[in-house]
Parts: sequence; structure tokens; C-alpha cells
Amino acid sequence: MSKSAELFERAKKSIPGGVNSPVRAFRAVGGNPVFVSKAAGSKIYDADGREYIDYVGSWGPMIVGHANARILGALRKVMGDGTSFGAPTELEVEMAEMVIKAVPSVEMVRMVSSGTEAVMSALRLARGFTGRDKIIKFDGCYHGHGDSMLVQAGSGVETLGLPDSPGVPAALAGLTRSLPYNDVTALEHAFKEEGDKIACVIVEPVIGNMGCIPPQPGFLQSLRTICDKYGALLIFDEVITGFRLALGGAQEYYKVMPDITTMGKIIGGGLPVGAYGGRKEIMEKIAPSGPIYQAGTLSGNPLAMSAGIENLKILSEPGVYAKLDESARLLCDGMKKVAEEAGVKAVFNRVGSLFTMFFTETPVTDYKTAKTCDTARFAKFFIGMLERGVYLAPSQFEAGFMSLAHSKDDVVKTLEAARETFKTL
Ligand SMILES: *Cc1c(COP(=O)(O)O)cnc(C)c1O
Repeated sequence: MSKSAELFERAKKSIPGGVNSPVRAFRAVGGNPVFVSKAAGSKIYDADGREYIDYVGSWGPMIVGHANARILGALRKVMGDGTSFGAPTELEVEMAEMVIKAVPSVEMVRMVSSGTEAVMSALRLARGFTGRDKIIKFDGCYHGHGDSMLVQAGSGVETLGLPDSPGVPAALAGLTRSLPYNDVTALEHAFKEEGDKIACVIVEPVIGNMGCIPPQPGFLQSLRTICDKYGALLIFDEVITGFRLALGGAQEYYKVMPDITTMGKIIGGGLPVGAYGGRKEIMEKIAPSGPIYQAGTLSGNPLAMSAGIENLKILSEPGVYAKLDESARLLCDGMKKVAEEAGVKAVFNRVGSLFTMFFTETPVTDYKTAKTCDTARFAKFFIGMLERGVYLAPSQFEAGFMSLAHSKDDVVKTLEAARETFKTL
């Protein structure tokens, strides 16, 4: 029995399903999850010492690669001075200033400890600011595990086939309406019906949690126009896209400005950080400058801030996003070619360093088309790649993440693994 399998048996006795987040389980692909003992650059190492090229990147945060020397250095520098004070620090001011400088629509920002917390807080802010209760989201978008957002959610909810979660009060879920992504007509219809009750529209500007699904040209701009027409706020959930598609996120990439932006993942450089920000007149409604309450004992934690700040500093350097884009392009173009040669039918979606190979022949533009994928075939592909030293997300409905640490050699090895694996499908 492998060490990972032993650890999983042990974990199942003390942790529900043996994992601390459902997406880590291998339920959709079969087999036991890989227990990780360490990571460096583009590689992770399992408890048995096996090396894998990692395209999960902790589900997004590790954009500069694992165990980056500059981030570790920044952590070492601050940790000797204490790990939490529950009082303001200069690091938090520095982080806020960096985010405001980088993200075009953000004039003020509040730190929290996870993406889920950022979204929950942003929704309360949108409701408090507009005095309205209803929320619109899109099928297959995942916005964390807050009650209001577990309606037609993607990611692990989708992977495990849980349409809605028990424990979410029907009265609350009833305030959330989920519409097809990339469908402006459905949105217009919803606003015509009850536009004066809708507090906000929340969207992943590029879906990362149903696999990578880009917005069709004009979709994000239409969201902006419709929200403005009805006085609703537009929230971009940039927990994945923030600092990934560009330093300023999807809003910089697509040049559409939301009212509120939620951030997470990359902003913490591998430590637990989330944030939400937006226009000053909105953000000033948050306590203590305004009446909308939101707080956090560990918010702006000095270790988390120092790792996040160093991460953003690396990402601010010239050429970073061109390099990420080029590496991901090489990989996806290569995969496409290898798949064609093997006669494997697949659809490739990619925006910058975010990508998915879908096992379908239907262009994937929304939840419905993503569901046309052959998930059994994906599972076989996943296991084959894992056996050949490539660690992909254990679900068809999750994106791949390229990092700055991935080399041409990594890409070549990945394509070789794919060529071998395709023969077995
Ligand atoms: C991961 C994710 C979240 C939730 O963030 P957590 O830190 O896991 O709570 C929210 N929104 C999006 C788009 C995400 O990808």
C-alpha cells in the first residue's frame, strides 16, 4: 500500500471524506487522493516521494511556482516579529495600496481570510448599499460556499453532482437566481421581471470553476449596461482571474469595470487571504466608516500580507504575463496537436494561463455545453497522466493553471505523457 493510500485510510477516520475541501478528493476520477509532502517550482512531491508536474497550483494561488525563494524570504523576515496582533500594521496599508494601484475599478479594499468570505461580504455590501435583496448569478459559476451562492454552483458542487446543498434555507436560496452564462437575453428578461429588486449580478468574468469558459464578446459589457440601467451593482468575482489574466485581472483584460471586485487565491501567495474592493462611495458603507458590518480576527494577518505583497511584486515585473501566456499557449497548442494525432476529440478553452481540455466535440460556452463532456474518458485521461507524473485537477470541471515556474521541458514532458495516455483511452 502506498503512503498516500495509508494516509487516506487514516484521514477518513478523523476528517469527513478524508479531506478538508471536497475538490481534493478523487471521487470523480476514482482512486485515492495524492498526499503531498512538499513542492518546489513547477513540481509537487507525494508522500511516497514521487514527483509530478503540477497544473493545479493549489487551485490558482501558486502563479509564481511553489516554494518561491522571494516569498519564503519575505515570510522569514516578518515571522520573527510575531504572527498576529489584532491591531493594524503597515503591511496592510502597503497591500491595500498595491491592490488599488493594480486593479482599475478598486478605490478602497478590505482584507479577509478567504475567497468565500470576500464574496459573502461583497454580497452583504451590495444588498446594504442598494437596499435590495435579490442576487443574480450564473449556472456553473462557483463563488465560495456561502449560503446564497450554493445554487447551481460549479467546482466541487458540480463534480460531486450536488445540485443544491441541504442546510441552505429555502428562503435564502430563493433570493438567488441562477441564469445561463453568456446569455444576455435571459438576463434582460430577469431584469424586466424584477429589476427593482435586484441588488447585484455576480459573475466569474472568465469561468474557472466549470473548467475554463471565456465570456463571449460583449457579454461582460452587456452585464455592465444592464446593471446600470436598473441601478444594480456588478460584482466581478476575480478570485481566480484577479492577478492571473493581467495584474489588474479580467477587468483590465476585457476593459469592463465592475462596482465591486472580490479577490482571493493569488493575493495571498499561498497563505489564506481574500479581499473585496470597489468604488469609495460603496466601500465607505462598511463598518466602522459605515453601517454594514464585516470583521475578522485574522484579517490582514502579517504573514499572509507579506507573502501576498511579495507575490504581487513579482507579478508587477515586466514580461510576466507574456511569459505565462506563452507557456500556456505552447501546452494547449501541443495538446491539441497530440490529441488530433491520436484521434481524440476534444475542445480547448484558454484565456492566458487558465485553460481546460474538454472531452467533447461541442464548443463549451456555458454549463449546458460543459455537461456534454465524457467525464468517464476524462477520468481515464486523468489517471493516465497521474501515472506518468502529471498532476491535473481531478475533475473535468476544473481549470488548469500555468505558473511562471513551468519550463519548456515541463511542457515537452507533459505532451509526451499525453501522447502515451491518449493511446490507452
Ligand atoms: C476559489 C473560489 C472562491 C472561494 O475561495 P475560497 O478561498 O476557497 O473560499 C470564490 N470564487 C471563485 C471564483 C473561486 O474560484
